[in-house]
Amino acid sequence: MFGKILIANRGEIALRIQRACREMGIKTVAVYSEADAEAKYVKLADESVCIGPAASSGSYLNMPAIISAAEVTDAEAIHPGYGFLSENADFAERVDKSGFVFIGPRAETIRMMGDKVSAKNAMKKAGVPVVPGIDTALPDDAKEITKIAREIGYPVIIKAAGGGGGRGMRVVHTEAALLNAANTTRAEAQAAFNNPMIYMEKFLERPRHIEIQVIADKHKNALYLGDRDCSMQRRHQKIIEEAPAPLLNQRARLRTAERCAEACRKIGYEGAGTFEFLYEGGEFFFIEMNTRLQVEHPVTELITGLDIVQMQIRIAAGEKLALRQRDVVLSGHSIECRINAEDPYKFTPSPGRITSLHMPGGPGIRVDSHAYSGYNVPPNYDSLIGKIIAYGDTREQAIARLSIALSETVIEGIKTNIPLHQDLLRDAAFLRGGTSIHYLEERLAKLVKAE
Ligand code: ADP
Repeated sequence: MFGKILIANRGEIALRIQRACREMGIKTVAVYSEADAEAKYVKLADESVCIGPAASSGSYLNMPAIISAAEVTDAEAIHPGYGFLSENADFAERVDKSGFVFIGPRAETIRMMGDKVSAKNAMKKAGVPVVPGIDTALPDDAKEITKIAREIGYPVIIKAAGGGGGRGMRVVHTEAALLNAANTTRAEAQAAFNNPMIYMEKFLERPRHIEIQVIADKHKNALYLGDRDCSMQRRHQKIIEEAPAPLLNQRARLRTAERCAEACRKIGYEGAGTFEFLYEGGEFFFIEMNTRLQVEHPVTELITGLDIVQMQIRIAAGEKLALRQRDVVLSGHSIECRINAEDPYKFTPSPGRITSLHMPGGPGIRVDSHAYSGYNVPPNYDSLIGKIIAYGDTREQAIARLSIALSETVIEGIKTNIPLHQDLLRDAAFLRGGTSIHYLEERLAKLVKAE
């Protein structure tokens, strides 16, 4: 096992990884930007290194600075967390070439999954159901594009092969709008992702977002750890996640999960990963794979009793998975609310000093947060200041516990989205379960009208 791990991230996930390391007796190195110098989790680490200014381009995305920090501290492995460099194949490669272990899949796997066309193809080959569409990049020829769209059938969605973060895609309802949309998306893809490749698939009108957590070791063993429903989204940003996903077709769920684990064996996947699907009409359609730890991993941890971060570390160190599929037992229900420093209905960021903070507790409540009373939420990064996660024997119990937890929570000095979460946990459609990815935005639009 590693003696020391460098955590190449910040905020709640840096603390989460640090906790996993400490429990395993592994020393930790925190790297931080000037904006995070005062953060308590930085002080809790065994060592810490400033890697640059507040702007993430000079710090959390600064590969040479992170690798030198690993060199000066003699860390053996680097955990990238999520976001920042976690899905950057060049970083994984540089970590490896510099003599450190990257805690995640091999660089070539990251690269393949980062290109959504090749990811979709690989998954299709491995037997994972994908969104109907073409298997290749869209050609330039206008006639060809028109023909492809007709074959798929409107509405279609044009997406950047190198896209991410919900950017670089455009829905097209009619042929009249098609070529313009293709050109604009291609130009955007080039500008934003430095890759003009685009592709086209069927646009599903009212899908749910269902994802399957997998974990695989370096010895071709792969497991699925159940599914999560992350349909409650705004601008493609998830805000509530739960496991297991309610009201799924049992046969499709099991078959798809098995195919995901099988796909991992086929492509030699290593580490934790998430297969993201759109789910409509009782069927799963693969959209992309995330080759890293997810923000919402705790809901899976609570229903499996597993520690996904520790498993990632053990796998990176070369250990075999200690359990088989039949040892993975799902029990109860778990729901997570992402607590963001933002206006609950206008969504404008609300950075600044937290003047008073009280986090909830009690049976079935887990809080993953780096925030504390006096903490200054910097304006430079995403607004997530923590996650409140509830576990219950049933979905109803998890919701009740989460509602109580939110009512106990006090965060003063900045605005948070807790009032929105409280609303949603009382919402009739959410309580029934199975709302589509458009539900939250439609509900918010109604609220605005009602004002
Ligand atoms: P990103 O990597 O940018 O997150 P994804 O491919 O995961 O891109 O798509 C992001 C979101 O866009 C999905 O969660 C879904 O809301 C929407 N989306 C993507 N593809 C489709 C599709 N074929 N039909 C309907 N919605 C889609």
